[in-house]
Amino acid sequence: MPLDRSLNAIHLRNVHPHPNNQDASSGASFCPAADSDYTVRGMAPTKTLKPKRKTRKRTQVGHTFLPASSSPSKSNWIERNVRGVRLLQVPQLAKLPWLIHGFSTKPGGVSSLDDQKVLNLGFTDWDTEENVLENRRRFQSALGASGLHLVSLKQIHSDIIHLFDAAPAKPCQGDASATNRPGLLLAVQTADCVPILLVDPKQCAVAAVHAGWRGTLQRIVVKAIGQLQMQFKSKPADLFAAIGPSIGGCCYEVGTEVATQFLSQFAEAPEWFDEFRTGDEPNPVQWLNMMPPGHQPPPQNVLLDLRKANRAQLLGAGLRAPNIFVSDLCTACRRDLLFSYRKEGAQSGRLMSVIGIRPA
Ligand SMILES: [Zn+2]
Repeated sequence: MPLDRSLNAIHLRNVHPHPNNQDASSGASFCPAADSDYTVRGMAPTKTLKPKRKTRKRTQVGHTFLPASSSPSKSNWIERNVRGVRLLQVPQLAKLPWLIHGFSTKPGGVSSLDDQKVLNLGFTDWDTEENVLENRRRFQSALGASGLHLVSLKQIHSDIIHLFDAAPAKPCQGDASATNRPGLLLAVQTADCVPILLVDPKQCAVAAVHAGWRGTLQRIVVKAIGQLQMQFKSKPADLFAAIGPSIGGCCYEVGTEVATQFLSQFAEAPEWFDEFRTGDEPNPVQWLNMMPPGHQPPPQNVLLDLRKANRAQLLGAGLRAPNIFVSDLCTACRRDLLFSYRKEGAQSGRLMSVIGIRPA
C-alpha cells in the first residue's frame, strides 16, 4: 500500500514519504551519500554538576536502575546482557510479539575509546567504518533483529520526518522516521539528545524520533504523532512512548537565550528549567525577573530538562501518562554506561535507539 500522498500540503511540509513502488533513491536530493549521521551544534563540553535531588535506587534482576521520577508509569526498564552487549528495553513494549525495540549502551563493542572496548554505533572521525558496522551487527544480533534492514538518518536537528515503505538507498536527512512495514529497523543516534520510540499497538505502526533542544523546540515528537495519525490512523490514546537515556536536567546547561525561546512557545516551559542550585532558592525562574538592587544578577545559564519537555509534549498530544516510559539514566552522569557528547566532545561514541516490526 503506497503512502497517501494526497494529504494537506501544510502538514506534509517537512515530511518525506518513501513508498516502495518508486525508485528508492527518489529522496536522493536530500540524501547525501555520506553516512555521517549525527550532528551536534554549539555543545561544548561542560563541567560536571551534581544532581540537585538524590535518586532512589531500584533493583531488578541484578541490575541497578534510576527511577523515572518524572513519570507515573510503572516501568522498570529491563537491562539485558547478550554476549556483552547491554540493551535497555521497556517491559510493556518487550511483551508485544510483533515488535522489536531497544536502546544501546556503551559496553560490548569492538571500538577502542580511552582504553575501553565500546559499542560505538555512529560513524565518527575517531572510529573506523569497519568497527561501526561490526558494532551495529552485534547490536542487531543481540536484539534478535539481524534480519531487519537498519534505517538510520543523517540527523540535522530539524523537524523533518520520513515515512518509509521500504529501506532507502542512502541515509536521508531528517530527525524522525515512521513505518508500518515489517522488516525495517528505524534508528536514531544520540549522545545526550533525547531518543523517543513510538508504538501503535493497535495499528502496528512505529516511529523513532531524535529530539535535541532544537527538535524539542520544533515539537518534532508531536509532529511524528501527527504523521502516525494521518498515515496509519493511529489514536494518540493508544500509543506507547519510550523516552530513552539522554542528558538529564541535572547536567544539561543552556544559555538563557535558549530558555527564552522555549518560554515564548510553551506555557509550561518554566517547569522544564532550573537554576544551578547553591541552596534553597524559592523561585526556579528568578532569572526571568528584573533583579531589585542588592540582589544577585540573573545567571547566564540554566538547566533544561529535555525529557520533561518531551513528556509534556506527549501528554499534550493525547498520550496517556501510564503509556509514557521515561529512562532516568543521564548520559553525562553515567559515562560508565552511556556516551555523552557534552562530556566527551568529538571523542564521544553514539548510542542507537531502534524500533521495528518483525518480518512475518
Ligand atoms: Zn546528569
